[in-house]
Amino acid sequence: MMNTAKIDLHLHLDGSLNIYWAYERSLLRNTIDKDMSFEEFYNILYAHNKAHSAENFRKFEIVCDVLQTYEDLFDATYDLCKRLYDLGLIYVEIRFASQQHCKLGLSQLDALKAVIDGANKAMEDFDIKIGIINCLMHKGDSAAFNEKENLETIEASYEMFGKGLVGLDLAGFENNCDYLEYAPLMKIVKEKGMPFTMHAGEMGMGEHILDALSMKPDRIGHGVNCVQDQRYIDALRKANIPLEVCVSSNVKLDRNYAGHPVRRMIKEGLKVTINTDNMIFARTDTPNEHHLLKMIGVSEETLIKSTYDSLDAAFCDAETKKYLKEKLDKQFKV
Ligand SMILES: [Zn+2]
Repeated sequence: MMNTAKIDLHLHLDGSLNIYWAYERSLLRNTIDKDMSFEEFYNILYAHNKAHSAENFRKFEIVCDVLQTYEDLFDATYDLCKRLYDLGLIYVEIRFASQQHCKLGLSQLDALKAVIDGANKAMEDFDIKIGIINCLMHKGDSAAFNEKENLETIEASYEMFGKGLVGLDLAGFENNCDYLEYAPLMKIVKEKGMPFTMHAGEMGMGEHILDALSMKPDRIGHGVNCVQDQRYIDALRKANIPLEVCVSSNVKLDRNYAGHPVRRMIKEGLKVTINTDNMIFARTDTPNEHHLLKMIGVSEETLIKSTYDSLDAAFCDAETKKYLKEKLDKQFKV
């Protein structure tokens, strides 16, 4: 049976732009050198992901700098949704951090509305469902560094919760400070009744998985460093928490798929969902992730199960879930 209807729960807007669009728009907005060729631009975005190298930071800056107006955020989101529809996706949760898009005067709420408007227009034009996730950010060397911005993120998100925004995330550099410093912020999110996920155990210590679990998130982003210690795996299994696994994003350009923990995670009975993270930086898309997993021995049945697990773990409302479940059943339960 062909597995074509896909769901992606972990996809960053800024890391998944259309590269040529981003190049032309960057020239128009003067956010890159006017003499930069498309080839140079392309190579910066595809640069090897050397941790903390200036080259690595530059690519994040470039894609963030071109998303600073209502029009650019709207257009980028609309275009991403259209491409995801063309790839056969039926539901995607697109995430971005509204606090990263206020350099030219947008408020966090303005930025969030621009992304939601772009997604709404795409949902009018194409048969795809989209939920927006806003990210709190790990920045600086303590949670105090951008606490004000993070609190604003929560406020803006709460205003749009149920109106396009489906949940929150904690993203950024998870090793920058004690992970538990973010517990008070996540407590506020929880008290407001908004679902949330957290990047944990991606580039950082597996111990962050236990820290994250103590904050009772609804899902965990990545979590692949659980393989550092059986205790982490056992804790994830006990919590029965969905993991947003993004294989190509982790292996980056060395392409060591066989060495990735995903097969062990599946074998250990963890709730693995398949996602892309960043379509540009990881040079991938959701159907490609399914294809690559099949190449390393993950069965079609497991992938279909992961798609149903993604639907279960989705932050969308019950009505949307029912609609999507009928779509999946039509395809997989003949
Ligand atoms: Zn991510």
